[in-house]
Amino acid sequence: METSRELSIGWKKVLDAIRSRISEKQFETWFSHTNCSEFDPERLVIDVPNSFYSAWLKKQYGEIIREAVEEAIGSACPALEFHIDESLKVDESLELLGRADEGGQQEVIREIVPRRKSKNSPRDINTQLNQDYTFDNFVVGPSNRMSHAAALAVIEDPGRVYNPLFIHGGLGLGKTHLLQGVCHELLARDPDLRMEYVPCEQFVNEFIAALEKNRIEDFRERYRELDVLVIDDIHFLANKDHTQEEFFHTFNRLYNDHKQIILSSDSPPRDIPTLEDRLVSRFRWGMVCAIEPPTFETRLAIIRKKCRRMKTELDDEVGEFLASSLKGSIRELEGAVTRFIGFARLMQRPLDVATANEALGDLLGSSRRRVTIDEIVSQVTDHYGVRLSDLQSKKRFQSITLPRQICMYLARKYTSHSLAEIGGYFGGRDHSTVLHATDKIGKSLKNDPEVRDAVAEFCRHLDAQA
Ligand code: ADP
Ligand code: MG
Repeated sequence: METSRELSIGWKKVLDAIRSRISEKQFETWFSHTNCSEFDPERLVIDVPNSFYSAWLKKQYGEIIREAVEEAIGSACPALEFHIDESLKVDESLELLGRADEGGQQEVIREIVPRRKSKNSPRDINTQLNQDYTFDNFVVGPSNRMSHAAALAVIEDPGRVYNPLFIHGGLGLGKTHLLQGVCHELLARDPDLRMEYVPCEQFVNEFIAALEKNRIEDFRERYRELDVLVIDDIHFLANKDHTQEEFFHTFNRLYNDHKQIILSSDSPPRDIPTLEDRLVSRFRWGMVCAIEPPTFETRLAIIRKKCRRMKTELDDEVGEFLASSLKGSIRELEGAVTRFIGFARLMQRPLDVATANEALGDLLGSSRRRVTIDEIVSQVTDHYGVRLSDLQSKKRFQSITLPRQICMYLARKYTSHSLAEIGGYFGGRDHSTVLHATDKIGKSLKNDPEVRDAVAEFCRHLDAQA
């Protein structure tokens, strides 16, 4: 990886992969003070504040770091080196620990237990699940009733009624919550159930890593010897021919054994770009349900529930005000409620409409509508005379990459979708592709008048719509 930007993107991926393997506290303690100064096929150099860190990381986390690197870059981990950089900030307690006696170190040793067990034993599924995403916390309304009912039916009789269960819907509308709700419920009924919950991106990365390391048999064992397989955001299979092929066999095996398969996606099966027909048809064998944006009443119920969980009651007037003025996804709705309550507490204001206006000004206002990715795509594809399916394909001609990158840039600017979500939408690309695109367009705005004019024109239209 040559540029410092690529280096930091690569390192960030590694950190994310490490984070998914250890507790937040361990991560904070050991990795928040590190840096990466070299990352290429030969060497990975990690800067650490002192020798204690380097000894500790080498001994306790070496294996985890190597695994994480392999997951992140999809190939073998280069040689690991630690470099001491005294300018790095260090935790005070660790400063002390650096000089601590044996006893002190024993304390820490006990804490460092990787969350994942040995390589091929099943992961502890609970570490993959958000403890808040339960059925109890899921508000049911007309927009998600079908999906909820189908999920309940699956819990009653996994592998039999609806197989696969395929839930699709826009971003932030509750797919992950519902899928994980099913996992919690199934585990409560049978703690020994062999179940995997994986975001599709992780499935893809593990598959690639398994290929690289000649561990494909382990991979197959992990995903084929299951009672329940749950894959979130299956649209990440777009453009991944080889993983699609592998998943096809996984699917067949589980399906024929009457094992339950549960999938979610940001679009219905036939709209997932470049998804093989044989997978599209299989995804439709069971039950395909949509989750729609919530209605006013559902939004109100979600706001109330969220407030209760934050130990706060809202009176009807302000609850209804929020439910009628916040029209984005449920994720945005929750974010706004948290901001409102946080603001009121901090500023010691009453929880009323005036405070809501003050705290949420930029999110409210009936005239301020959110721009959607679809609107961005429609402008850009019209202008460049390309199709959405081109943008979602693997094609890398300049005539396609430029509009694709502009779409990503505008999606970052105008929507609150995450990098991963935007990448997923444009053909199962990962977050670093989106970062690269926004970076690239940002530069072109400075030195390419054609791009600058086109983007300025798109922004004028989108601003007018917002
Ligand atoms: P998606 O996977 O569709 O992008 P998520 O499942 O991540 O969306 O949901 C986004 C946020 O909204 C989560 O915090 C989730 O708990 C919340 N949420 C979504 N649907 C509901 C619901 N029906 N009731 C309560 N909270 C919900
Ligand atoms: Mg999700």
